[in-house]
Amino acid sequence: MSNLMTEAEALQALKDKGSLYAPEDGYHFKGASGKHISGYCNIDPVLPFTDLLSKMTEAIIENFIDDGVETVIAPATGGIPLTQWGSHHLQKINGGEVLGVWADKAKPEGFAIERAGFAEAIKGQKVLVLEDVVNTMYSIKQVIELVREHGGDVVGLGSVVANRGVSAEALGVNKFFNLATFAYDSWKEAECELCARKVPMVIDIGHGDKFAAAHPDYPTVKVLK
Ligand SMILES: [Zn+2]
Repeated sequence: MSNLMTEAEALQALKDKGSLYAPEDGYHFKGASGKHISGYCNIDPVLPFTDLLSKMTEAIIENFIDDGVETVIAPATGGIPLTQWGSHHLQKINGGEVLGVWADKAKPEGFAIERAGFAEAIKGQKVLVLEDVVNTMYSIKQVIELVREHGGDVVGLGSVVANRGVSAEALGVNKFFNLATFAYDSWKEAECELCARKVPMVIDIGHGDKFAAAHPDYPTVKVLK
């Protein structure tokens, strides 16, 4: 138990892997919700490090071992490894079988349960939702709703990283555990304080490319190495 990863260790690991883009870095982003945000966490550089992901997931699911979880779900794509590690660790601790599925990205937006056997793994089950990064809660609320539409009983949400302000109440779930808080601000596009100061928009992470297409004269920047 005492070997579980702490918040400080998780934040350091995310920083070391280049996942965190801090508000003070001099640019900003457009999130999936359409809101403009001053910071961003990109989980992708962590995904190849399976042992690190395992430890992060273990520290999250430790908070749900008494909730009778039967199925773990996350949204594609960054959340998929969390479902595998999450079900693995829950099975190891609790015994029995815990299933791991994910919600695929749908077109033009949103999520869908569309793979063979996945709907059956949710219906009538106690379902733990996992997420790599919770920004404005826009995406993860869609996944929570999707689970309920498929007859699953959502026991809670566990995340690797979440912005401040994310809570069980705001998510509409009974229980929320976040491994590491990474704080930044968000605005509706028309009210964005960073746009007012012409702070460059990042176009190679998030949805800034759509903003750039609609505002061709606005300064942009690429940050991926
Ligand atoms: Zn802006």
